[in-house]
Amino acid sequence: MHGLDDHKLIKNFSYINGSWHSSASDLDVTNPATGQLVAKVSNAGVEETNLAIAGAKAALKAWSSKSANERAALMRKWFDLMMANQDDLGRLLTLEQGKPLAEAKGEIGYGAAFIEWFAEEGKRVYGDVIPGPSGDKRIVVVKQPVGVVASITPWNFPNAMIARKAAAALAAGCTFVVRPATQTPLSALAMAELAERAGIPAGVFNVVVGNDARGMGEVLTQHPDVAKFTFTGSTGVGKSLISQCASTVKKVSMELGGNAPFIVFDDADLDAAVAGAIASKYRNAGQTCVCTNRIFVQRGVLEEFTTKYIAAVKELQMGDGLIAGVNMGPMISSKAVSDVERLVRDSIDAGATLALGGQRDDAGECFYQATVLTHVTNDMPIAANEIFGPVSPIITFDTEEEVLAQANDTEYGLAAYFYTRDIGRVWRVGEGLDFGMVGVNEGIISNAAAPFGGVKQSGNGREGSKYGLDDYMEIKYLCMGGLDK
Ligand code: NAP
Repeated sequence: MHGLDDHKLIKNFSYINGSWHSSASDLDVTNPATGQLVAKVSNAGVEETNLAIAGAKAALKAWSSKSANERAALMRKWFDLMMANQDDLGRLLTLEQGKPLAEAKGEIGYGAAFIEWFAEEGKRVYGDVIPGPSGDKRIVVVKQPVGVVASITPWNFPNAMIARKAAAALAAGCTFVVRPATQTPLSALAMAELAERAGIPAGVFNVVVGNDARGMGEVLTQHPDVAKFTFTGSTGVGKSLISQCASTVKKVSMELGGNAPFIVFDDADLDAAVAGAIASKYRNAGQTCVCTNRIFVQRGVLEEFTTKYIAAVKELQMGDGLIAGVNMGPMISSKAVSDVERLVRDSIDAGATLALGGQRDDAGECFYQATVLTHVTNDMPIAANEIFGPVSPIITFDTEEEVLAQANDTEYGLAAYFYTRDIGRVWRVGEGLDFGMVGVNEGIISNAAAPFGGVKQSGNGREGSKYGLDDYMEIKYLCMGGLDK
């Protein structure tokens, strides 16, 4: 039924301290494209979460004592296994999450790249020797792993959101517990199966699957043996989790929601801008945190850009992600479709024009048509909220100052994009946008070597890049005295 070459990649139990752990009840994993059951997974809870933390604590000393080379060798095997199983992992991801198969395989490659990259970067954790205030002293700075890391991840990237946290944590010498989203646990469990095959020791990488988000979240954020908590998900849930972490003063990093502006200036290469906007908007049916949320087009190119853009959106093939040629899958749930329907309806009521789509689709209850709205203003619901669906609101502007003010007029600050060929404007707008990541003439910005993260209410901390490793390390200062004797 699943069409995987290696059926052993479908796991039905949490992976705790090197063992597959069954619980009293099961939860269903369903395919959002068809509504069919993909698998049943044992429904773990608070008790298993505590066990996973205990396993991670027990494994910490041995793992952190290994040399970076030893850790890198094991992580490299894990990376190799993920790439060797890319087709199966991609298929499993499409089955539980819905994104088209090519995109799902792309996510596996993207996630695996973090494991490869951090395995290498872990060898370059340098300290410092600083001259002291008097001749008999030296200030020595070393970096050490923070300890046990706990995390909660979302359904929109069931592999990569885990990989980019776990890779940095393991490379730094930390051990790791993840609670993946209830809707997409199979990709996480397949990663655990491959970690085990790679020889990653018991307790270093743990996956606890269960639908008691609140209860398990309280353990992961409040357990005294957890040194760091890292979350990817919505800003609302992130805020509660930050406050839960306060009781034990955990190191915290948050990758939260976004409201990305995509700005097209009069002098832009319009064909490149159309391609960049399509890639950034409709990937994963609009369900990524860095998805374009508002398209600002300068008045002089409004008509030409809109005509070309709508023509390109019409080319998208929506359907079951396993069908060849499909490049836009379903949304994650019927409720997600209803949320987008409401935003579109309220914005049309507020004066927006429906230029394309705007309907739930016959393909199934989780399908919403690729939609374009014109005559949108920055205060309409479709622009003021994170859409998380396949809708493009087009807003017109006249001046650079005006568009910068509007683009920044949001509590979010994750990703932004702009297209221009004016070098002065590249610097002015690049520096003027209050966002953690800016695509300049580019719609796809994420990769393992780059620091991914937001400002304002889009979160704190960075994932990927040399900066991402620092989030999993503590700086320790050793004061070396008595050197003149
Ligand atoms: P969500 O509702 O915040 O859920 C994310 C995770 O948190 C899931 O595992 C969920 O579990 C869990 N959760 C929900 N309520 C919880 C609670 N009270 N205590 C502990 N855990 C709880 O977000 P989502 O709708 O799944 O994901 C989409 C959001 O993630 C968007 O806002 C998007 O922008 C953001 N995101 C950000 C990034 C980034 O890097 N900045 C990347 C991807 C996504 P259940 O599955 O059981 O509900």
